[in-house]
Amino acid sequence: MQTTIAAIATPLGTGGLGVVRLSGPRAYEIAARVFVPLSGRDIRRQKGYTALLGRVERTLPNGGREMLDQAVALFFRAPKSYTGEDAVELSCHGGVAVLQETLRALLDAGAELAGPGEFSKRAVLAGKMTLTQAEGVMDLINAQTRQGAAAALSAMDGRLYRHAAAIRADLVDLAAHLAAYVDYPDEDIPQLEEGVLSDRLQQAADQLSALLQSFDTGSMIRNGIDTAIVGKPNVGKSTLMNLLAGYQRSIVTQVPGTTRDVVEDRVQLGEVTLNLADTAGIRETDDLVEQLGVQRSREKLERAQLVLALFDGSVPLDEEDRQLLSQIGDKPCIAVINKQDKAQRLDVEAVRVQIPDLVTMSAREERGVEELEQAILRKLRLERIDLQNGLLINERQRQATSRAAARVVDGLDALRAGMTYDAVAVEIDEAIAALSELTGESAGEQVIDAVFANFCVGK
Ligand code: GDP
Repeated sequence: MQTTIAAIATPLGTGGLGVVRLSGPRAYEIAARVFVPLSGRDIRRQKGYTALLGRVERTLPNGGREMLDQAVALFFRAPKSYTGEDAVELSCHGGVAVLQETLRALLDAGAELAGPGEFSKRAVLAGKMTLTQAEGVMDLINAQTRQGAAAALSAMDGRLYRHAAAIRADLVDLAAHLAAYVDYPDEDIPQLEEGVLSDRLQQAADQLSALLQSFDTGSMIRNGIDTAIVGKPNVGKSTLMNLLAGYQRSIVTQVPGTTRDVVEDRVQLGEVTLNLADTAGIRETDDLVEQLGVQRSREKLERAQLVLALFDGSVPLDEEDRQLLSQIGDKPCIAVINKQDKAQRLDVEAVRVQIPDLVTMSAREERGVEELEQAILRKLRLERIDLQNGLLINERQRQATSRAAARVVDGLDALRAGMTYDAVAVEIDEAIAALSELTGESAGEQVIDAVFANFCVGK
């Protein structure tokens, strides 16, 4: 028989309320030994979706009783509870000692301590929610930003699940057609035309690739955008960073090369967070200390999800600027022409040819920040984040989706190369398997355990 588990479900600390949760076939029986309703009712016959006020008590070694707290008990009857099992929640006063004592009383009365995420795991196993929804729950708990919470909610309300399941359903339909054709070539089975087949595979490939991209969007929302501010010395990198950060962070000087190292800072830009790195100029140098800084700048540039390339508008483009322009590669990049308050001598078009997204500003006079914000949001397509199809929110989901996408693309290649339908069907089957893993339907026990191991206890 399934055990009955208990855990403190709210953070340990001092708060108005703290909740101790109990779930499993013996939940009511165990609760009855610890919770005594003021009405004197027998709670073992209590209906679901009801609440009772009472005392939390424990039995002392000498058989006497000791009151621990006054609490409200909420009752849930299987299957109408979070876990799908009988469940009781004790809303106690939110002190550490009270909650721990209440939990201990429940354990003494026969409950077992819940493992991390065990409530949610039971909910998934009972079919109350899908694996991706459970992951959404975890993400929601961890979300620090409003948009992060919205993204987590979209997973929690099942959008990702439904989207993945729809892609899979289409692949299953294709696989069924192919199988029928391969297995019963003589039967009069309505055949999919090859054009229709490749169109539908292409559509699945596009949907999966969009879903994969949503992982980066989600990660930018949750963790912030790793942003490198690059430019030769004295173009105003530190000034810009200080302006964005809203306070003096790195030392601003007139001596080229004084920003010796990578200084990092998190700034809020409208709805998104930038993890800013103010870097020493990327240039060849003999100074050893500065060399280290330059090396780290390069690494920073490589890791960056966004590059802000700064130029001094008051001087002509020079060799160092050109070197920088050639190093950006295919990173999302915005050119920032700074020092607009001075007479302009920079050939803006020469920069625009290399970096089409370009804004002008004066960091010192604090002009142009809004334009920069808008350019960043546009560049990273973050102005309107589409949560319609849900977002991939963790590495497990990303890997499963990536495998599915690769198999669909292989299937398309096989089809276009004129290989047998058999060969195409093998790829589609594997894509279906990967999608089933994504949605959790065929996720092995190890995968499920790994997912829930990251949960906090009590969830
Ligand atoms: P960094 O070496 O790229 O970090 O450049 P800093 O931020 O240290 O700036 C170098 C010098 O340029 C400082 O004297 C700043 O005050 C000045 N500076 C920065 N931005 C502007 C600007 O928009 N206009 C003017 N006129 N000077 C600026």
